[in-house]
Amino acid sequence: MRKPLVMGNWKLNGTKESVTSLVKALIEPAAQATNVEVAVCAPTIFIGLVEDLAKGTEINYGSEDCDVHTSGAFTGENSPVMIKEFGCKYAIVGHSERRQYHNETNEVVAAKFKAAQEADLIPVLCIGESLAQFEANQTTEVCKTQLQAVIDLCGIKAFEKAVIAYEPIWAIGTGKTATPEIAQNVHAQIRAYLASFDKDVAAKVQILYGGSCNAKTAPELFAQEDIDGGLVGGASLKPADFAAIINAAN
Ligand code: PEP
Repeated sequence: MRKPLVMGNWKLNGTKESVTSLVKALIEPAAQATNVEVAVCAPTIFIGLVEDLAKGTEINYGSEDCDVHTSGAFTGENSPVMIKEFGCKYAIVGHSERRQYHNETNEVVAAKFKAAQEADLIPVLCIGESLAQFEANQTTEVCKTQLQAVIDLCGIKAFEKAVIAYEPIWAIGTGKTATPEIAQNVHAQIRAYLASFDKDVAAKVQILYGGSCNAKTAPELFAQEDIDGGLVGGASLKPADFAAIINAAN
């Protein structure tokens, strides 16, 4: 039985004040949602603040990225070991915005996945296709290739301590949520691909859906067999909307 996970991705948003009120507003919904795990991924500079605010609550938290190195001459980067020191449970790796704006290849993403696990963080591996790839029926191939880079570097068992987020790029921040049928179909194919290496690992790994998930679309998405919760961008910045999404998963 896979426990649903609803994770916010705040991206490059927030102030000390807004982060404080957002986390405070999530304490109650997270406590009430006993059947779902709640997490927020924050800009690195706010992680210490989130650590203080989330202490003693049911809110888990993580980073939106991490470097492949643990220390050294890598100006501006954030080491997974440092991220772990601030109490993070998760580190998102391979978000499409990182792949697009920072030219992160599948190999770099796999190295980040490995570095996160070595620092005892749970990597949240984002995969998904562009609109052109979706229209060319290449979704499965793209997802398999993105998964394969991690399998090649870390092995299939690495997915015992990882989360996958299927995020079609055409759905991220566009208001065009994938239909539950489309999302379920891709999630099932992702799981089947992992099962071709290891059935147990495939059956246990949480696969989140991400891409304009909101209070309205979440219930039907989360009702699908292979959708184990959501990675939520825009709606995670609005406490009432995020609470409704948590409720839908609960
Ligand atoms: C995301 O950034 O991971 C995401 C899913 O964003 P949004 O919910 O805003 O589409």
